[in-house]
Amino acid sequence: MDARAELRRHFGFDEFRPGQEEAVRAALEGRDALVVMPTGAGKSLCYQLPALVRDDLTIVVSPLVSLMQDQVEGLRRVAPDAVALLNSQQSMADNQEVLRRAASGRLKLLYVAPERFASRWFLDHVQRARLGLFVVDEAHCVSQWGHDFRPDYFRLADAARYLRARAIMALTATATPRVADDVVDRLGLAEPVRVTTGFDRPNLSFAVARCGSRQDKHRRVATVLRDLEARPAIVYAGTRNGCEELAKTLGRELGLDVAVYHAGLDRERRTAVQRAFMAGDTPIVVATNAFGMGVDKADVRTVIHETVPQSVEQYYQEAGRAGRDGRPARCLLFAEARDKGLHTFFIERAEIEDAAFGAVARRIRRQAAENGRYELELSVLADVASCDRDGARAIVGHLARAGVVQPAPSPPDRAMGRLVGEWDR
Ligand code: ADP
Ligand code: MG
Repeated sequence: MDARAELRRHFGFDEFRPGQEEAVRAALEGRDALVVMPTGAGKSLCYQLPALVRDDLTIVVSPLVSLMQDQVEGLRRVAPDAVALLNSQQSMADNQEVLRRAASGRLKLLYVAPERFASRWFLDHVQRARLGLFVVDEAHCVSQWGHDFRPDYFRLADAARYLRARAIMALTATATPRVADDVVDRLGLAEPVRVTTGFDRPNLSFAVARCGSRQDKHRRVATVLRDLEARPAIVYAGTRNGCEELAKTLGRELGLDVAVYHAGLDRERRTAVQRAFMAGDTPIVVATNAFGMGVDKADVRTVIHETVPQSVEQYYQEAGRAGRDGRPARCLLFAEARDKGLHTFFIERAEIEDAAFGAVARRIRRQAAENGRYELELSVLADVASCDRDGARAIVGHLARAGVVQPAPSPPDRAMGRLVGEWDR
């Protein structure tokens, strides 16, 4: 089979992105696979293409209804009758119709939330379909080491076996070896093909601005966003109140409706805000970290952090929502002296990880306590930030370019960087 031709035929793309072809081949051969690629790299295509080519059913498990809806809408343009979604917001009759189509072999891709697999009724119905691939997207949710652990993911290995899936494909952007091994273990992947790509995002530029006060910060955020080229933009604020306050200021300064998104709003409101942003009707959203998974808008030009995020990993995830279309985009961090977070986030994270990395974490904390500054080794950052060494190197590169850390002169592989003077105690 000519994979490139199928890529062109179904999606209109000329080239595979790194890793995609390998993953597609594994899926076509019916081998288990673990795919680790950064957000925006194109993981979905790794299973969508083989699903469309194969002559059996592919089930895709994904943790968020909004994520599934976006994918299904996208695929309906490509293959209108081949894809469907089961969810609790849809009527029983609609769900039954979907299952009938799955059983009759008319459906190629079925998107399902992980909770479904608790239902015997669902399992017995879907068992009538001829199942090929069982896809677990955002697979780090199965691992307690990941940052989004979901108990429902625990059932998936048994479900895949019960449904006699030909192969399981697990995909995630969380690259720590510990999470990867855990995913392989818990999903029971058999001799999986492992596909991993680099985590650098060369089109993103990073900058940190030090602000004198909250007002100063808000003014500078407004200045950045006044520029039309800086939009669409996401502004992360630390708290719900912080969001409301900043959105008001921005709305006034810019003469626009600036949307707010946080967990204190009801679900309809949040869905409406997210949809309006995705559709390009809302140029700026001010949000807490609740605005997360599922926000995969390709043309976000700016991600602003109005306060220092809690961890490098969180920063990287959130900043990574900029520029998924590959065009230049900016990630700006506005910090004031009292945002102590940045000063301590490595340490705090190290504390959380203490059980597993006791010795390392203690060393970091001791250094910090003794010198008011500390150096981290790449391997340590990799563990602390849940990524591989390339990921760690990329984070350090970004943070160094942003002036947040100074890379240590040498040896390059060992000492990776330290926080700059201003952040010292
Ligand atoms: P991920 O799940 O890894 O975060 P997605 O699967 O959502 O990423 O893909 C991100 C974007 O990349 C989508 O808009 C998708 O259409 C695009 N994309 C994926 N593969 C290719 C490709 N081979 N060529 C061009 N664009 C692609
Ligand atoms: Mg994805």
